[in-house]
Amino acid sequence: MILHVDMDAFFASIEQAINPRLKNKPLIIGSRGNKMHTVVCAASYAAKALGIHSGMSSREAFSLCPKLEFVTADQAKYIWTSEQIFELLKGYDLPLNYASIDEFQLELVGYSDPLNLSKKIKEQIYANFNITASVGIAKTWLLAKLASKLNKPDGLTLIDDSNFEQVLRQTSLDKLCGMGGKTGAGFIAGGLKSCWDLYLNLPGFFDQESYHNLDKADKNPGKFNEMPKSISHSYTLPIAQINPQVIQAWIRLLSEMVATRLRQQKLASATVHLWLGGPEIGNFEAQKTHQLTSSDGYEIYQRAVKIMSKSRLKDPKIRAIGVTCSNLSKDSYQPLLKEEIRREGLIKALDSINNRFGEGSIHPAITVLTR
Ligand SMILES: [Mg+2]
Repeated sequence: MILHVDMDAFFASIEQAINPRLKNKPLIIGSRGNKMHTVVCAASYAAKALGIHSGMSSREAFSLCPKLEFVTADQAKYIWTSEQIFELLKGYDLPLNYASIDEFQLELVGYSDPLNLSKKIKEQIYANFNITASVGIAKTWLLAKLASKLNKPDGLTLIDDSNFEQVLRQTSLDKLCGMGGKTGAGFIAGGLKSCWDLYLNLPGFFDQESYHNLDKADKNPGKFNEMPKSISHSYTLPIAQINPQVIQAWIRLLSEMVATRLRQQKLASATVHLWLGGPEIGNFEAQKTHQLTSSDGYEIYQRAVKIMSKSRLKDPKIRAIGVTCSNLSKDSYQPLLKEEIRREGLIKALDSINNRFGEGSIHPAITVLTR
């Protein structure tokens, strides 16, 4: 069984928890400080009830509700809270996955009373952060995620054999994760309306392989056999380099190459490993594991550069560089912050250009230093 935790109106709830004056009021979080010229990146439940939703322009939101409360997004605060919730959930000592900034999944191994556990988790989150979470429990991640959405806010929903058909019949297809884009449009054009219609046509859809970090690999050896353990690129420079900009340019290029391979295989990596070789530094290698996986070359590059700063040698001569990404998993992270969504769109656009015109046709400016 999978237990899916989905925070309720996460960013808005955090702001309301910090500032009780905002409690129960219609509130929007704007991605920028100018309240009439920004986009709603989160709305409180009172605002949602008025038809306000994320992605809407703030001007439109204010026209629906002139008394709307406004707070500028503070991403660092939301990420911090998210990480604290993750730490709290780690305490349950179950396979755990960070699915997005406000969603977490636990695999219930040997739990006979998942409802009781869910109640405990919800209470603990509320006691620590003064915000609510909705929990869904089901045998696959897709169903558990769906269940978490059905009784929001502060919901607790179990889908099992006894109510499977009933719940799927009552739930329109657009509620199901992944039905927003072309896939969903195709199903709906094909006449499918409810999740039950989809189940009758494609029963396997609900059994899709789960989110990654749930450590399935240990229990079902062979299942993930085709997934590589790591992806790496390295390069030996014609002459040892001392110019830090050139060295960083090479790290960036290698990071981008690794990231492209990751995205081609729909993988993301949690661990970045950097290897540097040179006359003074010898063979330096170090790695760091992050909670958030990535397949973004810029992010991998930044992680690698941070690792380089551990070498303690200032501007050593470098002759060889290697970037390795390991701790790989199916890329299931769903961007929620505006900046992440923008970045994802940008990466997709760059990939499609490079696919069409050849790898490296379009590249980060810094990498010209390697040419
Ligand atoms: Mg949520």
